[in-house]
Amino acid sequence: MANCAIHLTLLVRALLCAAALLCSGPTEVRAEGPSPGPAASPSFPIVSDARLAGDAKQTRFVLDLDKAIQFRAFTLADPYRVVLDIPQVNFQFPAGTGVAGRGLVKAFRYGLVMPGGSRIVFDLTGPARIAKSYVLEAANGQPPRLVLELEEVDRTGFVQSLAAESRPELRPAIADATDTVVAATAATAAPKAVAPKPKPSEPDARPVVVIDPGHGGVDNGTQSSGESEKDLVLGFGLALRDRIEKGGKYRVVMTRDDDTFIPLADRVKIARNQSAALFVSIHADALPRGEGDAQGATIYTLSDRASDAEAERLAEAENKADAIGGVNLTEEPTEVADILIDLARRETRTFSNRFARLLMGEMKTTARMHKHPLKSAGFKVLKAPDVPSVLVELGYVSNKGDLEHLVSENWRTRTVGSMAQAIDAFFAKRVAKAGTAN
Ligand SMILES: [Zn+2]
Repeated sequence: MANCAIHLTLLVRALLCAAALLCSGPTEVRAEGPSPGPAASPSFPIVSDARLAGDAKQTRFVLDLDKAIQFRAFTLADPYRVVLDIPQVNFQFPAGTGVAGRGLVKAFRYGLVMPGGSRIVFDLTGPARIAKSYVLEAANGQPPRLVLELEEVDRTGFVQSLAAESRPELRPAIADATDTVVAATAATAAPKAVAPKPKPSEPDARPVVVIDPGHGGVDNGTQSSGESEKDLVLGFGLALRDRIEKGGKYRVVMTRDDDTFIPLADRVKIARNQSAALFVSIHADALPRGEGDAQGATIYTLSDRASDAEAERLAEAENKADAIGGVNLTEEPTEVADILIDLARRETRTFSNRFARLLMGEMKTTARMHKHPLKSAGFKVLKAPDVPSVLVELGYVSNKGDLEHLVSENWRTRTVGSMAQAIDAFFAKRVAKAGTAN
């Protein structure tokens, strides 16, 4: 039965990913192509509850499991966080789990961090160290449990414990391989080696459009009325992909096509590695409660200085995705001041702005636009120096009318259509150039 074959493929894939997750070194397991999708398979371990106990000196976290699992826990600075990496599990927490903290834990989030790997990220009230971490087998009517014991330390103690851990950094890295087996083998044999991408016999000369649905996995993005930004923008991104692929003129690459967390730098890397001709990041905004009401879609491009206070607030919020997902921000590469990069960037900005204007012209025929629909700010995800990039906020999930649009299939189809039109208009001028550049 085809269904069984699919389940088997998913299981093998999950096992390979879990194996890669547990071995040290950068794991290259994010493969392109069809992926398991957001629905958790029943074969994954189930985590049914999570509790916090203790006080601001010592805080204990207990996770209820249905079987013992492997795990890795480590701390991160600026902001202070604890990250707990486990194999992919089926989260069946009661609603609201993690919203309220206790002791050293302000709050925690959970979700997929890559196919085969789940993550729980704890925001701490201050520096703390992991005093103990262990898994208890089922006993006395209690299910198997994973326990983390956190202990308050000062900043110096925290930094020392960071060094002592000398942990391998786990990131959902980008695989250049097209299948997981190759990628997992490469990661085990030679961590630095990137598996070569099998070249198709006919090189695909079509321009590459990268669609980047924001957030994902452990990072929900903004939330309102039970709707998560990460789901809304994934649905929109997939619809846009299908629409563009139907035209056949461009090759479409998704930064994510399931509910997985992707660090901002990896999204940029995907655009660069694919020599993308256009990068479109899809988001939905929200105004904090009590800060008025705003509505409509906004198209953002990159700039050193934000075009207004709202653009600045938004860039800051979107740039927080890495902190939310448990990425080590202290390891971020510093920007290279290179004159060639700078020149490329200037040309790229011209193209980005041109596409932004085309997109506004098309989108206003189908979608409600913000009163100032074209803005710019320092978005990390728009920083590929040689890829024209825009970030589209489809609307405000905090606004009733916008939210009705965002969840409407009809609205999505029309808006996806207008975006596809804008992409066509953009490439009508650029296709000749892209053709000769290859
Ligand atoms: Zn967002």
